[in-house]
Formats: sequence, structure tokens, C-alpha cells
Amino acid sequence: MNLETIIAGIVDEMRGATDRGTVAHYIPSLAKIDPAHFGIAIVTADGETFTGGDAETGFSIQSISKVFSLTLALGKVGDRLWSRVGREPSGNAFNSIVQLEAEKGIPRNPFINAGAIVLADVNLAGYRPREAIGELVQFVRYLTGDDGIAIDETVARSEEETGERNRALAHFMKSYGVLLHAPEMVLGTYFHACSIEMNCRQLAHAGRYLMLGGRHPDGGRVVPDRRARRILSLMLTCGHYDASGDFAFRVGMPGKSGVGGGILAVVPGKASIAVWSPGLNASGNSQLGGLALERLAEATGWSVFSG
Ligand code: GLN
Repeated sequence: MNLETIIAGIVDEMRGATDRGTVAHYIPSLAKIDPAHFGIAIVTADGETFTGGDAETGFSIQSISKVFSLTLALGKVGDRLWSRVGREPSGNAFNSIVQLEAEKGIPRNPFINAGAIVLADVNLAGYRPREAIGELVQFVRYLTGDDGIAIDETVARSEEETGERNRALAHFMKSYGVLLHAPEMVLGTYFHACSIEMNCRQLAHAGRYLMLGGRHPDGGRVVPDRRARRILSLMLTCGHYDASGDFAFRVGMPGKSGVGGGILAVVPGKASIAVWSPGLNASGNSQLGGLALERLAEATGWSVFSG
């Protein structure tokens, strides 16, 4: 298998694609991004990195940060997390409010917005928002091995200015006692986590611990093996919101998307993959990112369902 050739073919197809989806318009600073971008990076288990297209261009990782926030939150409270957030696919949009009332303020899973707002609340315990954010950025830098990773403050401000829906979710959960801190502090932490900027190469590197059974490539342990498997299972069942079933069907890899147009996908023991194309489909997942991963899965045979 020649990954360089496979990547070149995918980049070629994605460059020429006409149906590119629509950039997230509800966060003004994301609405300005050119939908012509496409990038891909693959890190294999033996440590080789392959890239194509705009793999070095930074983008807002948005909800992909929920994977890293979940990893930190589980490190802090372990299985106690599951009394405050569920583990079932939502079947609803990422920012849906309707399910929360029926389920008494407990979000369905950690990868919808309400669930990640709970993660921010957990990660805030004993910290100021600035410190909690600093811890998350440090964690992502450690995973990636790149100290240059930072928050795009313009995106964070843009989210703060327009995040009424997230505010509603947070206040609603606070009314049920699911959030322990003041909603504004929790939301500040959440918005900044979403505003971390990375490129495909960095993001694929950040996912290596999930490819390697919880180990950092330097040999250190990031999370126990069982926890890595559990995070991956949540990515597979919940990582693409109400389109998670379709993504599992088409791609067959645990993946997490963000409204910046990025997707992190992991094939345990084989590869950590990041794709980026800013145009989104109706479910808020990268239109070409999903297609590129489908092509990659076809060409490589990579899937969690293949023997
Ligand atoms: N920051 C975005 C929001 O809260 C994240 C959503 C996403 O990436 N799906 O709406």
C-alpha cells in the first residue's frame, strides 16, 4: 500500500469537488474561512507521517477538542463522570436543547455541546477558567509534541459574542444542578477549548495516544488501555452527532468532527488521521472531510470492523 499515492488521489478529487458544503455561519469568524481548503495528515503506528493538500494550514478544531477535554475529565474524576453525562448517541443536533429537559439536564453524551459544557465544568474544579484552559492547551501540546499550539482569541471572542444557544444549554443544566460552577465561567472555558487552532499534521499527532492503546509515542502512558478503547467507542457512536451512524457505516473508524471542518479519525494500532475542509453538511460535519475518509477507508481497508 502506497499512502503517498492514495493521499495524492484523494487531494486531487477533493480539490475538484463542487459540492463542498457550507462553512459554519453562526460563528462569524468561522464564516470567513475559504471553503476551497482541503488538508489531510496520516500518522501510522510506526511513527511515519504522510500529508497532502493544506495539511500545514491552521484551523479551529472546535468540537474535536471534546476528545481532549473528555480525556482530561476522566483523568480527574474517572467513572464518576458518568453520573453527570451519558454515553448514548443523541440522535439530535449537536446544540439541541429538546432532549435535555426530558432527561433532567443530563446530556446524552460528552460529544454534544451540552456534554462538553459538563466536561468544562469538571475540568474547572479547583481552577480559574484561565488555568483550566492552560491545562488543556498544555495537554494538547504534550500529545502533539508541539509547543506552538495555541488558542485563536479572535475565534474565542466570536463564540463568546454569539454563543446564546450554548448559554441556554449551560443555564438549563445549572437549573438541574448538573453544573457546579457559574455558567459564564464554564462557558468561557468551553469556548476557549473550541477555539484551539491546529493544522492537520498537529491534529493527527495529537490522536496518536488513541491509536497506540493509550500510550504516548515516547513510551509514557497517557491513559490506561481500557480508557483509550472507551474514548474510541464514544467517538464511533457519538462523534458525528446525529450522523454518527452514517459515518460509521461509510468510514468504519471512530471519528470526531468539529464545525471548523476538521475530523480526527483513529484506526487502533494502525493510524491516526486528520482531515480538514471547512464546508459542512446539514449535520454540521465536514462534507469533504467525511468523503475523504470514506475514500481512504476504501483504498486502505482500514476499519475497526475488518479482521
Ligand atoms: N464551538 C461550537 C459550538 O459550541 C462547537 C460545535 C461543533 O464543533 N460542533 O457551537
